[in-house]
Amino acid sequence: QTLVELQQVEKIYPGGTVAVQDANLHIKEGEFVSFVGPSGCGKSTIFRLIAGLSEPSGGSLQVMGGTPEAARKSSQLSFVFQDATLMPWCSVIDNVTLPLQLRGVPKKTQREEAHRVLELVGLQDYHKSLPRQLSGGMKMRVSIARSLIAHPGLLLMDEPFGALDEITRQTLQHELLAIWQKNPKMTVLFVTHNVFEAVFLSTRIAVMTPRPGKIAQQIDVPVPFP
Ligand code: ADP
Ligand code: ADP
Repeated sequence: QTLVELQQVEKIYPGGTVAVQDANLHIKEGEFVSFVGPSGCGKSTIFRLIAGLSEPSGGSLQVMGGTPEAARKSSQLSFVFQDATLMPWCSVIDNVTLPLQLRGVPKKTQREEAHRVLELVGLQDYHKSLPRQLSGGMKMRVSIARSLIAHPGLLLMDEPFGALDEITRQTLQHELLAIWQKNPKMTVLFVTHNVFEAVFLSTRIAVMTPRPGKIAQQIDVPVPFP
């Protein structure tokens, strides 16, 4: 089943920067696709277009059978940014349950779901902590837990591990891979400038080149242990 479809997508920012040109992409349910390329090649721009946070200047996009905005508003899509943006005055559990609070899910269900996702990222003992009591890697885990709580079919991650030390990065890469493997229907789109990270995580890599931003090549990553 096709989950994300881009046809001849173009994004020109006010001022004239052609950030993305001629982008064609066809992503099926359950894929893990990484976008790699140097700074400024349009990775974040493509990501924001797919997430419905920005409008294309040309071409067409379909996400989960509709517009990106519709996918985002139905919370079938969630995203994680490079800087784990948590509410500093709220406990870990209140940060994680935010998507459920917004939808008026009963408190008891919120707590159960929070414990489920906090366990996935290994933070079950920190539900009462405040963000400032956590390390950078732990904050990123909270952010990942929050993005998973509403069972998104599509998870968009924009350089989520870019600011972390190498050991934490590797730990979280393994955790993310395990979560994705447990959920065969979950599709992940991942932005990174780290080719090794992309090869380790993905089923497919979209290589982007700058000025203007283009998807120059798409490479299927062979599965090491089929
Ligand atoms: P990447 O994520 O690969 O670093 P971006 O998508 O952020 O690349 O940027 C692609 C190009 O578009 C760059 O030249 C950048 O300066 C430009 N750009 C990004 N966002 C904006 C914006 N809001 N307004 C104007 N230009 C932008
Ligand atoms: P990243 O490397 O994570 O893509 P950027 O530094 O490209 O981050 O962009 C950070 C923010 O600044 C984004 O919201 C982007 O839209 C905006 N931005 C990036 N480049 C420009 C630009 N040339 N003019 C205006 N806004 C920009």
